[in-house]
Amino acid sequence: MGKIVIISGPSGSGKTTVCKILKQHSNVEQSISVTTRSPRKNEKDGESYHFVSNARFKEMIKNGEFAEFAEYCGYYYGTLLSALEDAIKRGIFYILEIDVQGAMQIKEKFPDAIMIFLLPPNRLTLSQRLISRNTDTEQDLANRLKIAEKELEYKDKYDYCVVNDDLDVTVNTIRKILNLL
Ligand code: ADP
Ligand code: 5GP
Repeated sequence: MGKIVIISGPSGSGKTTVCKILKQHSNVEQSISVTTRSPRKNEKDGESYHFVSNARFKEMIKNGEFAEFAEYCGYYYGTLLSALEDAIKRGIFYILEIDVQGAMQIKEKFPDAIMIFLLPPNRLTLSQRLISRNTDTEQDLANRLKIAEKELEYKDKYDYCVVNDDLDVTVNTIRKILNLL
């Protein structure tokens, strides 16, 4: 049986960066979410996300295609149920890089999921990292930092909290949690 690994944390905490390294391991894959937000410059459809319209997302909800879904910053994001079930059957570690609302839904349906919350070293570093990523409008950035405060309130609901200060240390800490070393 495979293991679901949830990685949540405020926008800019380093989830995408950390997951990209974790999935280099042959026994680790990452779920490709469906979203209604527009692709960033470096993002490809079917790789970073499946980018769909609002109408298509709503149709997918109606068809029961999601293991979980949530609205974040005015857009929908969801995890495909079929891909998740397939990953469990294949016995791999299947990373869901999802927000706190989605994480709570998965915890309810799959209580064995390993839940990891990624924290920035501090608030200043979080906003500096978001600014230097240079992918969001000023309004989006402000929204994301505001949502971050709410998300931090969920950290105690997770099995592990990992502070992403030094990237190598963060990745190794998570590898140890998953027994991947
Ligand atoms: P998230 O996916 O959580 O929104 P990202 O992975 O996009 O966050 O990281 C936000 C920014 O911070 C990126 O520019 C990334 O390169 C940088 N970053 C991530 N982890 C670290 C780290 N440990 N030290 C310094 N910069 C980091
Ligand atoms: P971003 O726009 O920065 O890629 O993602 C915004 C937020 O949506 C992040 O917290 C990210 O983890 C979350 N997210 C990405 N995919 C999913 C998903 O499938 N479901 C849920 N609930 N959240 C997701």
